[in-house]
Parts: sequence; C-alpha cells; structure tokens
Amino acid sequence: MPTATATDVHESAAHNSAAHNSAAADRATLLGAWRAHRNAELTTHLAYHGSPPLPQRGDRTWPERFAAAIEESGLTGRGGASFPSATKLRLVGSARGNPTLVVNAMEGEPASAKDKVLLSCVPHLVLDGAELAASALGATRIVVCVAADRPDILAGVVRAVKERAGSSLAPVPVEVQQPPARYVAGEESALVSWLNSGPGAPSWRPDKRTPLTIGRRPVLVHNAETLAHMALVARYGASAFRAVGTTDAPGTALVTVSGGVEHPGVYEVAMGTTLGSVIERTRPTADVAAVLTGGFGGSWVSAAALDTPYAPRPLAEVGGVVGPGVLVVLTRRACGIAETARLARYMAGESAGQCGPCVFGLPAVADDLAYLAIGTRDRDAIRRLEMRVATVDGRGACRHPDGVARMVRSALSVFASDAAAHGAGRPCVFANEPSVLPPTVIAPLVPTS
Ligand code: SF4
Repeated sequence: MPTATATDVHESAAHNSAAHNSAAADRATLLGAWRAHRNAELTTHLAYHGSPPLPQRGDRTWPERFAAAIEESGLTGRGGASFPSATKLRLVGSARGNPTLVVNAMEGEPASAKDKVLLSCVPHLVLDGAELAASALGATRIVVCVAADRPDILAGVVRAVKERAGSSLAPVPVEVQQPPARYVAGEESALVSWLNSGPGAPSWRPDKRTPLTIGRRPVLVHNAETLAHMALVARYGASAFRAVGTTDAPGTALVTVSGGVEHPGVYEVAMGTTLGSVIERTRPTADVAAVLTGGFGGSWVSAAALDTPYAPRPLAEVGGVVGPGVLVVLTRRACGIAETARLARYMAGESAGQCGPCVFGLPAVADDLAYLAIGTRDRDAIRRLEMRVATVDGRGACRHPDGVARMVRSALSVFASDAAAHGAGRPCVFANEPSVLPPTVIAPLVPTS
C-alpha cells in the first residue's frame, strides 16, 4: 500500500469561506507560492510574498506588535502540543538573557512528511518566520535542526540559508544542526539536551512554562510549520489567518495522509474540515474502517467519526488527536490489531531507554499485542494488555509511553470485536496482509519473549 512521501504535495487548501476562494487569500496560505510557481528560490518567494516585515533598527514597539498579532491570530503550535504560540513567545521573551530560537524540522514521526514539504517547497517562509520570531525575542542565534538521516530535508534548508546569508533578510545568523535521528529526538527537551552537548534524551519538565535553556540562555523551540504560519500572520495579518478554520482553531494546517489511499501526501487543509473530506481527497482504496489520528503516539478513531471536524477539540470528543498532523487510513481490507502491534513494536524501540515504562513496559505491551495479532488463543490477553498499558501511562520522563498507551487503548476500543476474535484464536483474514504503515516501521508480528 502507498505511504506518503514528501514529493506528494497536494494543492488542496480546503476552503471554508467564500472569501478564501480568491488569489489574494491563497497568498496567505503555506503552499500558495509553491502552487503558483513550483519554485523554492528566494527571488520567487520575494516576488510572491514580498519582504518579511522585519523591524526597523530602533523600533522598540515592534516585538510587542508582532506578539500581539500572533496572539490575535490564535495560532497554536503545529508540532503536536497545540500550545498557544504567542504565550510561548512571551514566556521566553520575558526570561533573562539573549535567547536562541530553534527551528524544529526533525520530522521524527515516520508517517509525517510536512517538514520535508515545507523545507523543499517553501523554505524561505520557514526562515522568515524564524527571523521574525528571533527578532521579536532579541535572539542572537537561530538553529535549524534536521535529523542526521534526512539529507532530503537538509538540502533545501542549506540552499535557502545560503541564499539569504549576509542579507537584510538574515538579521539573526542561522546555523544548521543535525541531531541523531530517533522518534523522541524531536521532543523539544531532547532537542535542547542535544544542543547542550547532552544525550539528546527528553527531560522531566513538571512546569512547561519555565523555558528550556542552552547554557544559561533561554531557548524557544518552534516547529517549522508554526514558524511558517508566523511569517504569514506578520505579512497578511491575524484576520487573514482567521479567515479560514474555526473560531477555536483558526487557520490552515498541513496534514500528511497515508495508509490505504491512492494519493498519499501532504495536504494543506482549513482547520475544521471534516476528517471524511480530508480523506476523500486521497481516494481510499476500499471502505474506511478507522483512521489513526495524530501519528504513532496518537489515537485510532472509527469510520463512524468521519464527520468530525479536523481540529483539537472536536477530535478529542471522539478520542482523536491532531498531534503533528498525521492521518493513517485503515481500510476494511487491513487488520487494526496487527497494525497496532507493529506500531507498538516500533515505538518500543524508539524510546530514549532511560525510564522503566519504556525499558520494560513498552516491549511487554508490544509482545502482548503480537501474541494477540497472530491469534494465540488466550482469553486473558486483552485484560492483561489493559493492565500492562496502565502501568506505563504517566510514568515516564516524557510523554512517549503515554502516547503508546493512548494508541493501544484506542485500538482495543475501536477494534474491540476484532480484538476479542483474535484473543479467541480467530485472527481476521487480513492479519497477514501487507502493512499500510511506512516501510521503516514494519516489523514482523513475532513476540520477542
Ligand atoms: S519516558 Fe521513555 S522516551 Fe521518555 S525520556 Fe523516559 S525512556 Fe525516554
């Protein structure tokens, strides 16, 4: 089955207002410039969007005007936590010392391709956002982080950074760093740990309002998509951003759709577009049974919820999550239990290996699921799995085990009848079909203990 690749950029800004159906409104979308010109060079970017509204020397009110515009827009982080971007900006801006701004383009989620799309197609929009946010903070350094195994993303970043180096578009110097590739390496405390010459593992952060630091200086980590939205808000205003989306969740978002679909790829959609509408554009290969929302640490929702608007609050009401903007479509010709077992095995191997729930709990969960998936007759399997999941939830330094627990719980709910049949020794006929997951994730359905 096809999985999303970064070359599959779809031109589908889903519009939910008549006003947005104009060239002017399309200009205020993330991929508008790419749709118009298919060219990522700086000259094309500037011809399309004009120069970013960076502050004039000595303009002391500019940082607050920028923060106010971001606040008015209602922009929230597009990396997974959906935290208000203006709040994060102000928290770091009020800390002592010249901050560092980190552009998180790690794309640790295997089913996501949005960082690659942004940095291949519209890298200057991301860098504009980074320069604007860094200028608002008084930052002296911008660090773009690209995973060490992603030369495809790196190429676009390096080219774009060179194009603007030394110009007025780069008032804050930009460097590119390549932390090791791992699922949790893009978690912001893990990223900052690595930039501090540490192990690159997540750290326990009871109060996320206290900024992370590099050395003694505060650091603001923003996802690449969030920064690209900031560049649009600074240019076109908060009202243009709010012209699409919902009151609670304004703007557009990049969604990577993969799984059992004919046209996997990255789609720019208006927040509030129904799940069904987003998926319909990708042409499912058979009737949809369920959708994995929010990536591998996300949550399955059943096809009965396809009318749900794609936005944090409505999705939460049906047990789903937006997370990093990933949807994996499971058709009725695939086995949800087998796919969940593969996901759990992958996630068990991707922890930082420093906390009990990840070292002991996740491999045990993966084993239980593998036994269930292959149909080992064990009527106690589901109860044992539920207990096992409860022992990992909320017990790690970061939320990696919590995400796996949520994903497994959602599978046991959405695929309840399948799980019962597997536990009774009657696995469904699709359990041994090829996986719909990205190839790097697919592991054989074999318990390790
Ligand atoms: S909970 Fe897991 S992934 Fe998170 S820090 Fe601990 S070992 Fe690493």
